[in-house]
Amino acid sequence: MTEVFVVNSGSSSLKYQLVNVVTGEALVNGLIERIGEPGSKVKDHAAGMKFALDALGNGHDITAVGHRVVHGGTFFTEATIIDDDVENKIDLLSVLAPLHNPANLTGIRAARKALPDIPHVAVFDTAFHQTLKPEAYTYAIDAHLSSVHAIRRYGFHGTSHRYVSQRAADLLGRNLADLKMIVLHLGNGASACAIDGGKSIDTSMGMTPLAGLVMGTRSGDLDPAILSYLHREAGLSFDDLDTLLNNQSGLLGLAGEGDMRDVQDAATKGNAQAESALAVYRHRIRHYVGAYLAQLGRLDALVFTAGVGENSVELRAQSLAGLEGLGIAVDPIRNAAVSKAERYISPDESPVAVLVIPTNEELEIARQTVAVIGA
Ligand code: ADP
Repeated sequence: MTEVFVVNSGSSSLKYQLVNVVTGEALVNGLIERIGEPGSKVKDHAAGMKFALDALGNGHDITAVGHRVVHGGTFFTEATIIDDDVENKIDLLSVLAPLHNPANLTGIRAARKALPDIPHVAVFDTAFHQTLKPEAYTYAIDAHLSSVHAIRRYGFHGTSHRYVSQRAADLLGRNLADLKMIVLHLGNGASACAIDGGKSIDTSMGMTPLAGLVMGTRSGDLDPAILSYLHREAGLSFDDLDTLLNNQSGLLGLAGEGDMRDVQDAATKGNAQAESALAVYRHRIRHYVGAYLAQLGRLDALVFTAGVGENSVELRAQSLAGLEGLGIAVDPIRNAAVSKAERYISPDESPVAVLVIPTNEELEIARQTVAVIGA
């Protein structure tokens, strides 16, 4: 009884993995795309789910299904067994995550229909950050408006931050409860998280995943007055502004390329815009490292994860350059080692352990799923 089917359902895609929670191994891995698009063989998520389950082949004994759900609002502080009430709440939260929650819910409904006899569990990106204190999650705007519209910082990538922080403690051979850490999840989406004793105390994404670090196509932080200014001065509508900040900004907006490798290649060839985009990207990382160091009061470990964090030797070294005075240093030889392993990249004598920990959100979803159903 060890196999969990992990589902990450997007609006036109279905990512799935069959995970053996005992060994941590991914037994089957798949991605179905273009669901419901003209000319696609997969007409809806129900058909996609059937496709995925057929792809698993015979001989599997699935204990439970773990669903990635982006927004859990303040309803969900941990992974939760899905019933109709939970489905309704995920639906209600669609106003806060209009691109994600409806798509997640479509996947949940298709999977519950296809596998009605086993438990389904929702694992929320926001849940890990429900430990933020009011001073960390409150925006300084009219309190009544915030309360009526559920405006506050929720934070995202929680599944990754939780997984990575536990693995970091294991690598250090120390108890997570005793450690103060900053995790930098740098993928297409990117977020920083300050973790005190295993609890998230601050994170760079906000009410939505648009805030914080510079991302592939998302702006991250900016002066909120820029929105009304662009509306008035450049005639951009609110939909235009949404598209601008979510899909046309970040590295793409600055350098014309949203993929870090392409930006780095362009910078290597002397492209000034690409070089400047990377400088902005690094500057924003340092901003959060400094802020979270102050929030934590001390730092035991700084951890890089996700596509950029796990793979870019250059970005890791450059974004932490000059922080020796804060106890943060990167050893050039350790940093340059080509490896998929969890590893140190700081020198032995360094006060802050700088680590690279590959994230594994599917495994974390599978583990939390098993933990909630008590299997
Ligand atoms: P997602 O957020 O979609 O899960 P990933 O965590 O896979 O994304 O991260 C994707 C990002 O990682 C892309 O910007 C990609 O260019 C970057 N990346 C992957 N490998 C490298 C590498 N060797 N050097 C620099 N960036 C890399």
